[in-house]
Amino acid sequence: MSRITEEDRIEEIRFKNREIWEMIARPDFGDDDIANVLNGRQKEQANVMKQSVAELNKYRCPLCGYEPEWSYYLYKVFKNDIYSQVAANLVTHYRHVHIKYYDRAWQSKAYRKKIPMYDYDGQKELVNNRAKRQMIRALVKKKPENWREIIRGFRNLKYNDAKTQELLQSMILK
Ligand SMILES: [Zn+2]
Repeated sequence: MSRITEEDRIEEIRFKNREIWEMIARPDFGDDDIANVLNGRQKEQANVMKQSVAELNKYRCPLCGYEPEWSYYLYKVFKNDIYSQVAANLVTHYRHVHIKYYDRAWQSKAYRKKIPMYDYDGQKELVNNRAKRQMIRALVKKKPENWREIIRGFRNLKYNDAKTQELLQSMILK
């Protein structure tokens, strides 16, 4: 028998199935649903994923107080860095919830065709940087749990422009 550590096993489970993750990440998805919908190995995967989401669940948007929809994609990108993961999810949340026009553009077929998934064009970078600065300011103002760590998490996100970097520097030094 090959030697597989508990850590390897959990890692494998975590990356296995995006659909399951997204289902589990829904706040209305209970333990009974896991039992009903899944079985055996899948059920085990679901439980591990649910634990990860539970870890994120204490974080809320500092602007509206609602919980962002946690992304499996961002989980994979920042799997060992929960604060960057929170920061990145807050940016997505801002785009989807706090500015509607961006979503409308995204939903337009012609517009979408030009932009591959997860690809950052100029518009997205611009909007993301505005989102980052709004979130950083709101975190400083409201000071939720681990707000400093989350602000530091923003440093690890891609495409921080000069204004965002400057704001990050001044807030981290505070
Ligand atoms: Zn919000």
